[in-house]
Amino acid sequence: MIKIEKDAWEIMVSHVRQTYPKEGCGVMIGVGGTVTQAVPLPNAFTGAQEDFFTIDPEDLRRTDDQARREGMGVIGIFHSHPDCDAYFSKRDLEHSCPWFSYVVLSIKKGSFDHANSYRPDFDQTEAPKEELIYG
Ligand SMILES: [Zn+2]
Repeated sequence: MIKIEKDAWEIMVSHVRQTYPKEGCGVMIGVGGTVTQAVPLPNAFTGAQEDFFTIDPEDLRRTDDQARREGMGVIGIFHSHPDCDAYFSKRDLEHSCPWFSYVVLSIKKGSFDHANSYRPDFDQTEAPKEELIYG
């Protein structure tokens, strides 16, 4: 289960509405299964950003360092699916890390529609849905 506090959730939704119709992304920081901070990061994918995202490893490392200094850690990654449902794609799975939660936000016509969270397994063969509480 992952719980996203209201402030962090609002930052996530506002960021992916701004990047629409491209995919927006960022990291979720907190302790245990609770996200207290969301940090939007640039989509570093050099292809069509309407269909995919990547996070620069340097951005991820810097955000992780900062979270650790504050006694927290990176719990997961969020990204949006513009005009698509919040599923975890094969490509998402191939680029995932098994120790993170992956929150996918569906943005339709520029507005938030729904979201799901996934936890990839260690072989990156599947990512079961986990319970997501937000707001
Ligand atoms: Zn995706």
